[in-house]
Amino acid sequence: MNENTQTANIEVEQNSDIIQITDMHKWYGDFHVLKNITLQVKKQERIVICGPSGSGKSTLIRCINRLEEHQKGKIVVDGIELTNDLKNIEKIRAEVGMVFQHFNLFPHLTILDNLTLGPIWVRKTPRAEAEDTAMYYLEKVRIAEQAKKYPGQLSGGQQQRVAIARSLCMKPNVMLFDEPTSALDPEMVKEVLDVMISLANDGMTMIVVSHEMGFARSVAHRVLFMDYGEIVEGNTPQAFFDNPQHDRTKLFLSQIL
Ligand code: ADP
Ligand code: MG
Repeated sequence: MNENTQTANIEVEQNSDIIQITDMHKWYGDFHVLKNITLQVKKQERIVICGPSGSGKSTLIRCINRLEEHQKGKIVVDGIELTNDLKNIEKIRAEVGMVFQHFNLFPHLTILDNLTLGPIWVRKTPRAEAEDTAMYYLEKVRIAEQAKKYPGQLSGGQQQRVAIARSLCMKPNVMLFDEPTSALDPEMVKEVLDVMISLANDGMTMIVVSHEMGFARSVAHRVLFMDYGEIVEGNTPQAFFDNPQHDRTKLFLSQIL
């Protein structure tokens, strides 16, 4: 991990839950995919979620920006309860940025247009201002010189950095990452993790689904383990990795470490 890692230790504000999930359940039809999820996330806190494939990690973070609906329990994001009342959806999407495994850039738009689309059409930001903001974030992910290119002309690592910049253009208060490096060739993983570390240093609240355990150790305040739709345990990285409590966690860690 690079030297930035050392500084990624901004103090979490106490008594400042930005996300509160209480006794939450979700079903896909008859399939009980999330069970009794309770999780509080504080402002500037960084959480890494790991667990086997199919354990519900993606579904959980997709519930936090309402890409998926839950059926039972409560999710509150920055004071807004996620309910069937559709009025709050746009607010939530602006509040909570999401970065996916497969980047999800629009292939027919330039990098710059990918970044300005949301601010111009959703936020009603004037184009010139949206472009200034876009260039600011492209600089931040060190890719400004690619602004006029199309996604297909960029490497996977560059596309993922663009996807992160695109999320930041909406000025989110929370960023969700769903296995942001798992579709990348190994040599590109570090450039994306470095951008995420720099975001952490800026104080961004982050929930990251990832099996990059080096990143988890150095950047996370808490690591959670999910299995069969439950949060089995969660702890500081040191306690989590050095002294896992549950057999399922031990088995999982023995398989990936
Ligand atoms: P993870 O991200 O931990 O791999 P997911 O949240 O993607 O797990 O999926 C959890 C479970 O829910 C899996 O068994 C998956 O097949 C199932 N699942 C995911 N999305 C849907 C869906 N839209 N409809 C039905 N089942 C789904
Ligand atoms: Mg997933």
